Amino acid sequence: MRIQYLFIHGSISFDLKSSIAYLGCVQTGCTLIKSIVTNPKNMSDQNLCTHLTSITNVQIGDEGVCEECIKTGGLWVHLRTCQTCGITLCCDQSPQTHMTKHFRHTNHPVVASAEKGERWLYCYPDEEMVEY
Ligand SMILES: [Zn+2]
Ligand SMILES: [Zn+2]
Ligand SMILES: [Zn+2]
Repeated sequence: MRIQYLFIHGSISFDLKSSIAYLGCVQTGCTLIKSIVTNPKNMSDQNLCTHLTSITNVQIGDEGVCEECIKTGGLWVHLRTCQTCGITLCCDQSPQTHMTKHFRHTNHPVVASAEKGERWLYCYPDEEMVEY
């Protein structure tokens, strides 16, 4: 499993097994925009829906904002990242529930938690959740 952090000016990838970091960004003060987990573990050997088992990279938005709420000055509780288009929006406990609205409009099935320390995916059509 490897985690890649995408910054505005480049990226860093981190191999969890060997603890080797691959530096791509040398500028300081660079803004972290997204992290991507490659080969998430035990996805394929569980009894999961095809939406979840077909995920080979988990994208997580790292900007720390709901991309819809910031346009209107709204407040959010938790953030989720769509695994189809990569947009980061707010959860169902947030007043605007932007991610659920995004699923209803686009049918993009799987979201990941964009909260620090949370490592799970959720499939809307099958209402299935898995940790990775
Ligand atoms: Zn599914
Ligand atoms: Zn929102
Ligand atoms: Zn989407």
